[in-house]
Amino acid sequence: MPEEVLIVGGGVAGCAASIALARKGRGVTLIEREPTSRHKVCGEFLSGEALEDLHALGIDVASLGAVPIDYVRLAAARRAAEAPLPFPAASLTRKALDTALIAEAVAAGVRVELGRSVQALNRTTANVWQATLDDGTTREAQTVFLSTGKHDLRGHTRPKDPEQWVAFKMYFRLTPAQTAELADASELMLYPGGYGGIQPVEGGVANLCCVVQQKHLARVGHRWENFLAKMQQDCPHLAMRLAGAEPLLAKPIAITHIPYGYVRRTTEEGLYCIGDQAAVIPSFTGDGISIALHTARCAAAAYLAAEPAPLFQAKLRSALLAQMRLAEFAADGLNNSLARAVLPFCLRVWPGVMRVTARLTRVAQNTAVAPQAVAG
Ligand SMILES: Cc1cc2nc3c(=O)[nH]c(=O)nc-3n(C[C@H](O)[C@H](O)[C@H](O)COP(=O)(O)OP(=O)(O)OC[C@H]3O[C@@H](n4cnc5c(N)ncnc54)[C@H](O)[C@@H]3O)c2cc1C
Repeated sequence: MPEEVLIVGGGVAGCAASIALARKGRGVTLIEREPTSRHKVCGEFLSGEALEDLHALGIDVASLGAVPIDYVRLAAARRAAEAPLPFPAASLTRKALDTALIAEAVAAGVRVELGRSVQALNRTTANVWQATLDDGTTREAQTVFLSTGKHDLRGHTRPKDPEQWVAFKMYFRLTPAQTAELADASELMLYPGGYGGIQPVEGGVANLCCVVQQKHLARVGHRWENFLAKMQQDCPHLAMRLAGAEPLLAKPIAITHIPYGYVRRTTEEGLYCIGDQAAVIPSFTGDGISIALHTARCAAAAYLAAEPAPLFQAKLRSALLAQMRLAEFAADGLNNSLARAVLPFCLRVWPGVMRVTARLTRVAQNTAVAPQAVAG
């Protein structure tokens, strides 16, 4: 007997969609390959929109220890500029957030299968989706929500990432003086071939999350230690922050293949693609979690209104495209050596630009992907 809805991937988007559907009385099974939540490569910045969506899902980030973030600071070469954020924001480790989301899904009545990986997802002749798991068993469902984040399932791959981005995350305990200086700010640092962010998370810890193009990493022998040293050489602000800091992980967590700017064009009947499987915004915006929550909410509403998945996916694409293109344009600017030289100076003179950019690269809560009920 096919399940009603199968959700593949229990990160932000998958959990959010499962909670929304279960609360409407739908039978939902969620399959997540990790047995317990673990650290993920993420800057762990939660925008105002993400906070609103999480609150609506019943996640109280303050009780999980989230740190309020009130300022954004941009540093390049020897200059830095700061501006207050034009919306409330916070930071919280993904481990804490993902754990809370899974618990909320269970509480909402979702059948959660942890530690099970979907290896293949195909349509059978009977027109149902069949997922084959790593233990060889299968699950069948009329409808599937694909929310595997950066991991592509065979047959459902996204395009290659031409820039060959590599991303790292490392936790540090900063010195008391640097912890006080960082305070309630999210700092964005620019260097040749990429950018990185450092911000406080719960437990008095700082998260350093950075991206770099493969060709620049090759110049430092593909080694994290060399890359960390090079970032500090190119961006003395980071060197100042990390002076005397203690690394808290034995080695950084890393990922490759990040198709920034990707927005899914289409999908098949009964397959709603959400989160990073729907769109991948440049990381400096700190908006990926918000988009994951937004696409999950819209897809759940579309499913409940019997809107076909291909129509939903096309509407989602047109709703997100302008924001994605603007974010890509801004990311290209950050990667330009002239921009790196003058940006902090310009932003000091005109800090409003930082607020405007932060505002424009957000997914608006009212971005309409309103489902149209389909007759019949
Ligand atoms: C360098 C970097 C920094 C970022 N910083 C920020 C930030 O500060 N703020 C922000 O808002 N966004 C940030 N993002 C983006 C954000 O992390 C993602 O957009 C968001 O996590 C997407 O949510 P998701 O649910 O699609 O994927 P995820 O949250 O990654 O969840 C996918 C889940 O699917 C599971 N899975 C994968 N394959 C399978 C399978 N075959 N079977 C079963 N389960 C599977 C995984 O284990 C995972 O739990 C950043 C991204 C990068 C790369």
